[in-house]
Amino acid sequence: MNDTLEARPSPDRGTAAYVTRDVNAGELLGTLRGIRLPTRTRYSIERDGDHYETGAPERYVNHACAPNARWSGRELRALRSLQAGEEVTFDYTETESAFASPFLCRCGSENCRVKIGEPSA
Ligand SMILES: [Zn+2]
Repeated sequence: MNDTLEARPSPDRGTAAYVTRDVNAGELLGTLRGIRLPTRTRYSIERDGDHYETGAPERYVNHACAPNARWSGRELRALRSLQAGEEVTFDYTETESAFASPFLCRCGSENCRVKIGEPSA
């Protein structure tokens, strides 16, 4: 159960996760629960060399190159204060050492790296 984060359809990015209330920087947004997998998947999150298939809503937190949240151990925490209804994102390259499904990022950030999961030049 997570009262702070909810998954719902995004206008342009499939399903996304949003905060249900205003939160402060550093606040807990979600936790890594779920099944440990033998290999990574498109939705798994890597921690300490293992891959976890998370449930909703954490499963639907999208990537952004300038994210507003970060996984610290098994906890997803806000990097800055967020307003109710704001989409929550983290940088997938901070958790994954490789990618099951490399993708083209459309986060719109000034420093968007575009090719996520591709080796950098
Ligand atoms: Zn990006």
